[in-house]
Amino acid sequence: MRLRSTAVHINTVALTGATGYIASHVAVALAAQGHRLVGIDNLSNSSQIVVDRVAELIDGPMPFVKLDVRDTVGLTEVLAEHEVDAVIHLAGLKAVGESVTDSLRYHDNNVGGTISLLRAMQSASVPALVFSSSATVYRPDQPSPLTESSRIGPGNPYGRTKSIAEQIIDDVAASSSLRAVHLRYFNPVGAHESGRIGEDPIGPPNNLMPFTMQVAAGQREMLQIFGDDYNTPDGTCIRDYIHVSDLADGHVAALGAFGSIETSEAINLGTGRGSSVLDVLRSAEKAADRPIPHQIVGRRDGDSAVSFADPSHALERLGWQATRSLDDACQDHWRWQHQNPTGYRTSP
Ligand code: NAD
Ligand code: UDP
Repeated sequence: MRLRSTAVHINTVALTGATGYIASHVAVALAAQGHRLVGIDNLSNSSQIVVDRVAELIDGPMPFVKLDVRDTVGLTEVLAEHEVDAVIHLAGLKAVGESVTDSLRYHDNNVGGTISLLRAMQSASVPALVFSSSATVYRPDQPSPLTESSRIGPGNPYGRTKSIAEQIIDDVAASSSLRAVHLRYFNPVGAHESGRIGEDPIGPPNNLMPFTMQVAAGQREMLQIFGDDYNTPDGTCIRDYIHVSDLADGHVAALGAFGSIETSEAINLGTGRGSSVLDVLRSAEKAADRPIPHQIVGRRDGDSAVSFADPSHALERLGWQATRSLDDACQDHWRWQHQNPTGYRTSP
């Protein structure tokens, strides 16, 4: 790998998947650091209302273009017109179960979307890319803490789309002037402390935190805990839950690292702390100040017992570490849930 030392000045940043859960928080964090933004999203899993909510939080408009990232010509025009210096590529489909039943759609969208973006970035001469990757790229049997050199081997098609996209980006970076960082997220949770932006799943949530909060709010009857017979202290699975605002700050830090980056590099974004499903339940009950109905059911297919990050590479390379706790995340997620009971759909 070549080490490039040229300084990279990043002013304008394009965010793909801009109206999604994580990107909306990244937008707020970037604007706070004085970056100019342009948001791109096809709104397949998000609402245009997010653009107004972000504008409210950043005290000014966020330019937004409704576009599918697979539209290479349209994307090239947006990157050129806004004189974009770096892209943060968050656009993607993320439901593991759906990726098993409709894998082609996942490869088309996540891998095809990344190829289209790389072409557009080449045409518009954009030199820097931050890619939203995932801890699911690691082989499920790898022991935690997971480091960036833990073995890759995703256990489902969603994870494979992330791993394949990383490899494609690596190949392009190795043979061109592109520099890239793959941020491998652990379990993003929580919401902006204002309660104005947060996760707004369409239909029943697949993930633990939004499901738990909807049960707390009385929108769902019962949280099902998938297994209490794992080899963990309380028998439930352990994950590394990272506050979405910490995650967003990690993206800002990644942009600051391009001056010293190798051609491409993978960096874990996690807290380094593991919490069990029961820890999350207790923290959510504290935040919502009520008991949350739950029952233990059988294990969910494909779940590994323990997954948490070794976050030391992020500290070393980005000067970044998570600062918020699971309790902070539950309080902020509950505020968002409470103030926006139907997400963005009917809230003012
Ligand atoms: P999200 O669904 O809220 O946001 C993704 C956004 O991308 C949505 O607004 C969707 O409309 C948009 N999108 C999808 N395909 C597109 C396309 N072809 N063109 C333009 N826009 C498109 O999901 P999120 O939780 O904010 O995740 C953001 C990224 O982070 C995704 O790439 C996801 O795979 C990755 N990631 C998420 C998690 C997690 O648990 N949330 C964990 C690891 C990685
Ligand atoms: N989980 C659960 N009930 C739910 C959703 C999730 O018990 O309704 C458990 C799941 O088995 C896993 C943990 O919560 O151990 C985190 O799951 P999630 O889907 O949020 O994230 P993952 O780590 O699987 O990507």
